[in-house]
Amino acid sequence: MSKVIASAVIRGSHKVFRQAEELMQKVIAEKGEEHEFEFPDTAFYLPLIYGMTKFQVKTLKDMKEALMMTRELLHEEPGGEVWTPYLGEALDSGMATLFAEEIWLALRYIEGEEPMKDPETGYVYNGFITDTVQRNLGIQLVDGRMPGFAAIIGAAPDEDTAVRIVRELQEKNILVFLSGQSNGDSVTKQLLRKNIELGWDVYIVPLGPKTEHTLYALDWAIRASMIFGGMKPGDVKGNLLYQKERVFAFALPLGPLDDVKWATGAGAINMGFPAICDTDVPVIHPTGVCTYEEVEKEFDHDKIVQRAIEVRGLKILIDKPPIPIAYGSAFEGERIRKEDTFIEFGGTRTAAFELVRLRELEDIEDGKIEIVGEDWEKRFEAGGQMPLGILVEVAGRKMQSDFIPILERRLHSNINEGQGIWHMGQRDLPWIRISNGARQAGFGLEDIAKIHHAMSHKRFSAIVDKVQVTLFTTEEDVVKWREDARAEWKERDERLASLVDETVDTFYSCLLCQSFAPSHVCVITPERLGLCGAYNWLDGKAAYEIDPTGGNQPIPKGQLLDPKYGRYSGVDEYLKQASGGAVETLNLYTIMENPMTSCGCFECIVVIIPEANGVMLVQRGHTAMTPIGMKFSTLAGTVGGGMQTPGFMGVGVNFITSKKFLAGDGGLKRIVWMTKALKERVKDKFEELAEAAGVPDLLDKIADETICEDSEKLVEYLTKVGHPALEMESII
Ligand code: SF4
Repeated sequence: MSKVIASAVIRGSHKVFRQAEELMQKVIAEKGEEHEFEFPDTAFYLPLIYGMTKFQVKTLKDMKEALMMTRELLHEEPGGEVWTPYLGEALDSGMATLFAEEIWLALRYIEGEEPMKDPETGYVYNGFITDTVQRNLGIQLVDGRMPGFAAIIGAAPDEDTAVRIVRELQEKNILVFLSGQSNGDSVTKQLLRKNIELGWDVYIVPLGPKTEHTLYALDWAIRASMIFGGMKPGDVKGNLLYQKERVFAFALPLGPLDDVKWATGAGAINMGFPAICDTDVPVIHPTGVCTYEEVEKEFDHDKIVQRAIEVRGLKILIDKPPIPIAYGSAFEGERIRKEDTFIEFGGTRTAAFELVRLRELEDIEDGKIEIVGEDWEKRFEAGGQMPLGILVEVAGRKMQSDFIPILERRLHSNINEGQGIWHMGQRDLPWIRISNGARQAGFGLEDIAKIHHAMSHKRFSAIVDKVQVTLFTTEEDVVKWREDARAEWKERDERLASLVDETVDTFYSCLLCQSFAPSHVCVITPERLGLCGAYNWLDGKAAYEIDPTGGNQPIPKGQLLDPKYGRYSGVDEYLKQASGGAVETLNLYTIMENPMTSCGCFECIVVIIPEANGVMLVQRGHTAMTPIGMKFSTLAGTVGGGMQTPGFMGVGVNFITSKKFLAGDGGLKRIVWMTKALKERVKDKFEELAEAAGVPDLLDKIADETICEDSEKLVEYLTKVGHPALEMESII
């Protein structure tokens, strides 16, 4: 390693350590050593220190002890006569820097100084990244929609360059974290001056204006190995290797580097994350700690993103529709305000529909696009509102009618992934907005059809051979076609409702989360969707047709060994092999004995409450206490990592209203507490099922956070309302 770099790293580590030490003395003097602290919504204490040392920092006294441990990692700067080796010392100093930064930022939280607000613009930075955000994004990381993340530290030479770099990363769906500054400026400020939308929805997350704020990105990275990978806190080698092999991150330090930037960078190198600089720095080329080079330079800002992708070894697959705007899932969360809208369709404003229809191969022409009625070009010089019916006709040798709803569901993302165009709703209630920006870039009505043609082919290449798109723009046509479509949806819904576990002979696995949780397998049945809520049985079936060697494999059910708990010989056989021997047997319809494993992406958690003889349900994003005495974030730490945990289970929200939900344990009547938000979400279907189970008022008898948040009051409430769980046989 370069002596220049090693010396800078060591100097930087001492500087950051002193900074943390000084602030600690001040905060302890103010609050006392017993003062408790936790970062917002996390079950991982100070995540980096916890991941590396297993030490749980809960109070200022603990923080002081953690700082003592940090001191042991510090080294003296190499003397004039010492030339080699420096690598071990520099890496230790890098890790010490991250520990000290984590403590310093925690202390700033106690002082009310985080997350920071920019004094000039009033912009409030993100600060610490919560477990909820991490779990929400987990699914995009595992299914490849988000191939990695970049930490940009400093400022680009000018605003236009900053925009170009960030746009290129967005188009490649790489999540961008921003921190630090150079020469008093930063990429965050440069983007704000150019009115670029920032935030999680558009994959650009400003963490804070100092280099030390980069630590929040590394805190997020280290939690991935514990949340999704099942790595144990304190397993230094396991956690660091997981980072190197599965978390595709890199740093782009823009502008001159100081000692703190070098020291933070050395910490990131420990995790296998390389840095690609735009200044003339010494480079580190030997591979080992990182996959390829550790420090590299690239002066051409038009090439720096590509160079970073090569150095980190990222695989990026981009297939953009032939349209004049940028395209990628990073634009999916972009909002278009009314004043920025050129034209809109549907919503409550005009009649609209979107229908995918199955056709025979000889009946349609691939790539044919037709606009029936006037194009907006003729009618709207200055924008406005107009009706729009979208008919996407598809055909393919391997196409089946069961796949049509899946293609139709993707029409939403097809449109939403365009920069400057926005979509919500589906079927007879879509709502589309085209922004002035997209219009100025040359986007036209026909481009909507081009997107659906290209993306239906791309996403479903193995089952789709032909796609023809027709757009209807007169009120009369749209209303007429919408009526036909409604009849088609009704028939389709009735057919899908008749699909139950007993009527199929094959279930499907989903192994996508194995990239994070190597022993986790979702077993997806017609009546039990994947625990992330994103994949149902039809998705699994279609995905297998599309890619027979991919993450969704058929599981022949085999013999039904236990009808009550839902145990099948074929499922057990498959699981032994697919979980690498970690799971021997699975019961699909119970939480009590050999339940499904959980990765980290579950939409909600089911947990047994023995004293209430039932279970409670809490969803991701609920930050308050639950009757089990744990918040969602703590519970999630207990459930994840690909382990079977009797009494605890991650599930998708729609599974709650399946007839198979805990069928072996007594079904819906076992639910004694669930959050108000969940109650609202499942209300209609739940009430239908409760009525059929002979307890029409069950939802009212289930407690929520407005009734109680502890088990004693819960039992009191259940007794008062006569909840059926109290009369059922013991759940244990
Ligand atoms: S279905 Fe299961 S394995 Fe697949 S992405 Fe969702 S949670 Fe992960």
